[in-house]
Amino acid sequence: MRRLEHYITGAWTPAAGTGAVLADAVTGEAIFETGAAPDMGPVLDHARKVGGPALRAMTPHQRALMLKALGQKLMERKEELYALSAHTGATRSDSWIDIDGGIGTLLTYASRARRELPNQNTMRDGGAEVLAKDGSFVGQHVRVPRQGAAVMINAYNFPVWGMLEKLAPAWIAGMPAIVKPARQTAYVTELAVRMMIDTGLVPEGAIQLICGDAGDLIDQLGPEDMLSFTGSAAVAQKLRAHPAVLAGPVPFNAEADSLNAAILGPDVTPEAPEFDLFITEVFREMTVKAGQKCTAIRRVIVPTALIDAVQSALADRIAATGPGDMGRLVSQGQADDVRAAIAALTEEATLVAGGAYAGTWHAPTLLRCDEAMTARAPHEVEAFGPVATLMPYDGIDQAIAIANLGGGSLVSSVFTNDDHVARDFALGIARLNGRVMFGNRGSAKTSTGHGSPLPMLIHGGPGRAGGGEELGGIRAVFHHMHRVALQGTPDQIAAVTGVWVPGAAQREDRHPFLKPLSDLEIGDTIRTASRTVTLDDIEHFANFTGDTFYAHMDEDAARRNPFFPGRVAHGYLIVSFAAGLFVEPSEGPVLANYGVDNLRFMAPVSPGDALSVILTAKEITPREGEGHGEVRWDCTVLRDGDAVVAQYDVLTLVAKEPRTL
Ligand code: NDP
Repeated sequence: MRRLEHYITGAWTPAAGTGAVLADAVTGEAIFETGAAPDMGPVLDHARKVGGPALRAMTPHQRALMLKALGQKLMERKEELYALSAHTGATRSDSWIDIDGGIGTLLTYASRARRELPNQNTMRDGGAEVLAKDGSFVGQHVRVPRQGAAVMINAYNFPVWGMLEKLAPAWIAGMPAIVKPARQTAYVTELAVRMMIDTGLVPEGAIQLICGDAGDLIDQLGPEDMLSFTGSAAVAQKLRAHPAVLAGPVPFNAEADSLNAAILGPDVTPEAPEFDLFITEVFREMTVKAGQKCTAIRRVIVPTALIDAVQSALADRIAATGPGDMGRLVSQGQADDVRAAIAALTEEATLVAGGAYAGTWHAPTLLRCDEAMTARAPHEVEAFGPVATLMPYDGIDQAIAIANLGGGSLVSSVFTNDDHVARDFALGIARLNGRVMFGNRGSAKTSTGHGSPLPMLIHGGPGRAGGGEELGGIRAVFHHMHRVALQGTPDQIAAVTGVWVPGAAQREDRHPFLKPLSDLEIGDTIRTASRTVTLDDIEHFANFTGDTFYAHMDEDAARRNPFFPGRVAHGYLIVSFAAGLFVEPSEGPVLANYGVDNLRFMAPVSPGDALSVILTAKEITPREGEGHGEVRWDCTVLRDGDAVVAQYDVLTLVAKEPRTL
């Protein structure tokens, strides 16, 4: 039996004192033990004073590349994690969700952050707000990294994924982490942290690990720290009401248990593909990880006319499932909890299939409650194992009411091949769910399933599910940042954010397309000569492209249109002429134009109008480890030198250094 170690203040530290003995879920053999909690003052200090500054000395893209490299290293050693994970009672496919799923989340964040975030720690949130008529005073929302520690308290069922899904967005944001995994499976998290530390890629203090009790960690949190919790609703409640959390106030995010529902639509018949898909999904959710998944289906809500058919289809699958076909509950204690929860459920429901158990093995167990609208236990008691309760409904409104009795879920799924039914359910249950998945024959082969949290989609939910939100792409990064409104002159705002805003200084010397990133600065501008649009141009463009819309071709028809004074130029003709006006044709540092953002045509252009362009370097994002970067240009197209007729951002790739040709 080995004692787990904390990784704190830069060293692996064997825990002193006494803690808990951790047994192998299959053999019952004592394999690890935890000790007492360390003094948390120095741990928090180390995160705030060493880890945070080290992370914030890197840019967001550098941190994202660190995640990528870490993910690759973890992949190389993942078999060690699988071997250890088997002691938790997980099958290989159960562990896949945790290990490959966790590493996949890290890699997803690594690539999304480089695609979607600027490469600087002060990140703009929306555009500048002009606050003075003459444009001399503007406001800009920005997000800045919090400078405390991100404390992460995790549940036992996903020792790797549970850590990595929180770590990835925190690190991208620039916050150091203190990870406290649940005791029962902390040894798997300990190995994953060892692997990350062994790579030498993680800056000192960016991660610390507490194996065992949280000690006085929560008591010592301050207003720049944050607390993210995943676990039971009862502990979430306790932490939310902790005096330090209230007094800080410490931002608190909870992902708690939830009694997730799967609903069979009223349109489905036993012969329809959706019936089998539903049965397969419910059974899968009961058995994967032996039902120890926060997203598992606990409530199976079906039309009254189909309840016997659903019960018998599930009972057949349950009867064919033996101890070798699925994993174990994590510990004898957890098995006792599951049995106690089943006993509580049977106060109001009847056991109709499964129910056998031995030690940490528990057969998939189906209960049935015919009084779903008045019963309480099926909507309130979470048996965190392979257990679900079947309930009948009459009419969509009642099905919605039954689903909503759960008081807020991480996820619900609706199996229907009628899009109107899908819509009715969404309108009825969406507000009480973090995620709603529709299943039918159209997505049978491609659906990611009821129970899979995905890094790009929100994971979390209202009410009983904790009210928090993890994941959800870059949204999760922003949870770790503070949003502030900056006000000042355009030059001040540009200097702080590194992004040019209208009214800030513009510099006109060489054509900015001749400047590599090493020379280019935000505010570098070109004001072009003008070009008069003729009727011939419009007709030529129309015939050349095939866009012979009446507003360009038919004077009378154009005049009958409330927006046009007569025949007008195509919007894309304006954009094309603008490119012709601002381009520098020689082979230089600009490598490619990869699109435009926020294109708006603001006023019509008639034959005889003269177009000119002001093009200004707005944002410069060098790509880490590559020879080029992205430049966003503010492009304003003017009519007769003053009226704005089109406004957009031009997106280009530009070499960092002069090219040797
Ligand atoms: P618990 O709520 O028992 O524990 C969760 C974490 O909280 C553990 O790390 C635990 O540590 C810690 N903890 C407990 N009490 C305190 C305290 N007073 N102060 C600080 N930390 C504390 O959940 P389980 O680990 O048993 O996990 C199962 C539960 O988690 C289920 O209810 C499940 O639905 C839920 N869950 C929710 C998920 C979601 O995303 N919504 C995902 C996964 C699970 P220790 O282990 O050392 O006691």
